[in-house]
Amino acid sequence: MAQKYQAVKGMNDVLPAESYQWEYFEGVLRKLLADYGYHNIRTPILENTALFIRSIGEVTDIVEKEMYTFTDSLNGDSLTLRPEGTAGTLRAVVEHNLLYNATQKVWYMGPMYRHERPQKGRYRQFHQMGVEALGFAGPDVDAEIIAMTADLWRRLGISQYVRLEINSLGNKDERAAHREALIAYLERHVDILDDDGKRRMHSNPLRVLDTKNPALQDMANAAPKLSDYLGEESRAHYEGWKAMIAALGVEFVENPRLVRGLDYYNQSVFEWVTTELGAQGTVCAGGRYDGLIEQLGGKPAPGIGFGMGMERVLLLLQDKNLLPAQRGVDVYLVNQGEGAGLYAMRLAQQMRAAGFSVVQHLGEGSFKSQMKKADASGAEFAVIVGENEIAAGQAVIKALRAEIEQKTVAAAEVAATLAALKA
Ligand code: ATP
Ligand code: MG
Repeated sequence: MAQKYQAVKGMNDVLPAESYQWEYFEGVLRKLLADYGYHNIRTPILENTALFIRSIGEVTDIVEKEMYTFTDSLNGDSLTLRPEGTAGTLRAVVEHNLLYNATQKVWYMGPMYRHERPQKGRYRQFHQMGVEALGFAGPDVDAEIIAMTADLWRRLGISQYVRLEINSLGNKDERAAHREALIAYLERHVDILDDDGKRRMHSNPLRVLDTKNPALQDMANAAPKLSDYLGEESRAHYEGWKAMIAALGVEFVENPRLVRGLDYYNQSVFEWVTTELGAQGTVCAGGRYDGLIEQLGGKPAPGIGFGMGMERVLLLLQDKNLLPAQRGVDVYLVNQGEGAGLYAMRLAQQMRAAGFSVVQHLGEGSFKSQMKKADASGAEFAVIVGENEIAAGQAVIKALRAEIEQKTVAAAEVAATLAALKA
């Protein structure tokens, strides 16, 4: 027997029994994004490696150990499967000059790639929906983004399972002053730091505070807080943001240790977290990155965005039984006898042209077995044609989910009759 193949570890197939759940979720997202005036942007899954190093930062989990990087054997270029969506989106915005005399609100949705240890809620190919609002200084847009995500949880029915955490990272100078104090603090505690901590205490000390190591929690909690280093402008931005979120009625907690794993953030940062998924609790995370567009070769412009882990939101929806049932088609078209196949096919086209979804039974099969399939398909109606119906130019309509008397009507009347029965 020929060899069978398996999907790459950590990369999952979505089969028909589950894909309708994705379609439902994507539909809710598309409506939400349209309601807030965002436009779709589609960028390649491969980018030059340097783009990710430059934007995400050298001393980050993603760049240090999670990227799928390879050399293009045709020209020696180093390419990387995108680990997140912001870098490619901003590369495209700068490349096509989309911020020339304009602001932009864009969204993307699609697969991302990170070489991580696969577990529940953590995969090597996963999907993010993300937005970027570019050219807005905030804090109004910062609040609108919170309102939009809170609105999404409401639409999906999961508001009670997620909690908003926020923080301010200030500006570059404030972070530099805090960084100095933080490094001095970490140096005093170097004996208890783990390997990651020791390695990062000089290159990326903020990330040392982001540690999940239980032994380091007290040390991290007592470390100098960035919030104590914020100047007047940053403080006003943060206070303005918080006041608007509060006025919108969205609950939040301030988490002074929330620093995010990517280097490009400044000012407002946030995470929506859930306690329902074990360790993989962050379902949506983002913040402001005012220097990034300039860093990628564009004219200076502020920006803010987030990425949402779609698998994690779906896991929550599955766990809480909040996904709608898979919808069946409107009609299962049962047909048997001489000439029935073609007669049925014409009838099916008529019904589809009138807006009904139709599954025509294909191949052989007794009426009885076809009716069983019609029932199992979830269809609302069976439309039945046999030799008698063909001879009379008719079809039988039988409701499968409601107590409606079976009707025999002219073939030309089938669509109109179905429409009347559904109304
Ligand atoms: P984590 O702390 O869980 O590793 P992160 O800080 O690396 O998350 P971000 O880069 O902020 O994650 O990505 C935004 C969101 O994408 C995360 O909050 C999460 O919901 C989702 N996500 C990130 N990595 C994965 C993954 N390997 N598998 C599934 N979802 C992921
Ligand atoms: Mg990660």
